[in-house]
Amino acid sequence: MFWADKIAADAQGYQVVNDSKTPSGRVHVGSLRGVVIHDVIYRALKHAGKPVKFLYGVDDYDALDTVPKYLDKQKFTPYLGFPLCNVPAPEDTASDYAKYFMGEFLEVFEYLGVKPEVYYLRDLYRTGKLNPYIDTFLKNANLVREAYKEVSKADRPNNWYPFQVVCENCGKIATTFVTKYSGGKVFYTCKPDGTDWVGGCGHSGWVSPFDGNGKLPWKVEWVAKWDLLGVTIEMAGKDHSQKGGSRDVANAISRKVLKKQPPFHSPYEFILVNGTKMSSSKGVGSSAQEIAALLPPELLRFLMLRTPPRTVINFAPNYETVSRLFRDYDILISKYQHQGDPLTEELMPLLYAQLGEEIKPFHPFDFSTLISLLQIPRLNIHQEVAQRSTNPLTEFDQQIINQRIATAQKWLQDYADEEEKLVLYLEQVPEKAKELTEEQVAYLAKLVENLRHIPNWETEELQTVLFSTSKELEIQQANAFKAIYFSFLNKERGPKAGGLLSYLEKSFVISRLEDIVRLKAQV
Ligand SMILES: [Zn+2]
Repeated sequence: MFWADKIAADAQGYQVVNDSKTPSGRVHVGSLRGVVIHDVIYRALKHAGKPVKFLYGVDDYDALDTVPKYLDKQKFTPYLGFPLCNVPAPEDTASDYAKYFMGEFLEVFEYLGVKPEVYYLRDLYRTGKLNPYIDTFLKNANLVREAYKEVSKADRPNNWYPFQVVCENCGKIATTFVTKYSGGKVFYTCKPDGTDWVGGCGHSGWVSPFDGNGKLPWKVEWVAKWDLLGVTIEMAGKDHSQKGGSRDVANAISRKVLKKQPPFHSPYEFILVNGTKMSSSKGVGSSAQEIAALLPPELLRFLMLRTPPRTVINFAPNYETVSRLFRDYDILISKYQHQGDPLTEELMPLLYAQLGEEIKPFHPFDFSTLISLLQIPRLNIHQEVAQRSTNPLTEFDQQIINQRIATAQKWLQDYADEEEKLVLYLEQVPEKAKELTEEQVAYLAKLVENLRHIPNWETEELQTVLFSTSKELEIQQANAFKAIYFSFLNKERGPKAGGLLSYLEKSFVISRLEDIVRLKAQV
């Protein structure tokens, strides 16, 4: 059974799926994994006919703990330690810092068809919804301290209380420490040595902890949210899921203080993004927004959900990874076209990759071929695609093809390395072709003969002739194909050689090969 369907099958009764994010800056593509995982669990539950709600919490009472390098350091440094909802937005497009960065992230949600009910912690605090929990945890501070100690071996002094006040004097929340709770008020101190990244102002006093005057530490806050919202399923990234880690601490607090079982939990792995050199040289990188601007939404969903949560995803926006992603997706589309409903386990990722509730089949056009075609000078891409398609294109096929052309163009412009680009030597014989061995030249000479008689100038037939000619001359295939790439690209590797030749005019290919043979004969 597909991993999300398994979770759905095991769930009993009304389900509330919850996920959350601290909007501390631009969101990395890796954060989308949790989003898509929770969305797919939600959809799997709906698919199984189980009642379910999907929530997404914005932890905007967390403190700004660092100024991201793409922001004005001078402007934001004074706000270090402030709750994110009290920090100004980098631009006027949002009311505050938290809304600004969450806004960017929510645009990606929209793009991916992820539609949770979004709530902000500032609202839960300021409307008093968390007041009863604040009271409970303050009254049971000893049990919270016990849970920390037992699970994570973290020692909290006897006068430590699970609460952080927004300092009435300086506005920081990260630097305040509560040491008493009495008569509905807490006593706090804003400590100059409160953290190792920002200092408090030294102010101290009694204040009500309710209605937004402060927050619970996040592991405790997590437990309060679960109970307030009735959360039954919440996964967490591997970093929070280690033994003795935050999730374990929160689970223990839930059991100890609220006497309640924590929600269903299973950790998920990271996404490792390689190829970061692109981000520095081209000014684009691997933020969720940037990758969403590159990949069609179904493909981005597919990337996140086809790998089981406990397995690492390696994603680099390079030729190999991106074209394989499309290829794998197309394999499932073709299978679906043959098998139809009901869906096998293998096809479930395809269903959950869709923005809607069903799979709309199309005739896939190979993405890596598009990348090559777009680099052939003076070629009309739409005509070429129509000619190469085995079926007449439907309107939907055409839509998908246009989308893929846009992806391929963007990839070429923003992500392709020089080695990954197809530079065709149309005018003159490439330098490297002059270094071919006698054996390779003999291969090219034989190829000229064989290519003259080929009935159709198309990829598979060309590929067959390239292979059969190498067999005929008993030349190693690797050497034979290198001879082709050197003759047209000046490098030893390239796209499928049959495809490469098919992009070019037959007369051009033959005369180029003849030129090389002649040139070598003169040496
Ligand atoms: Zn202060």
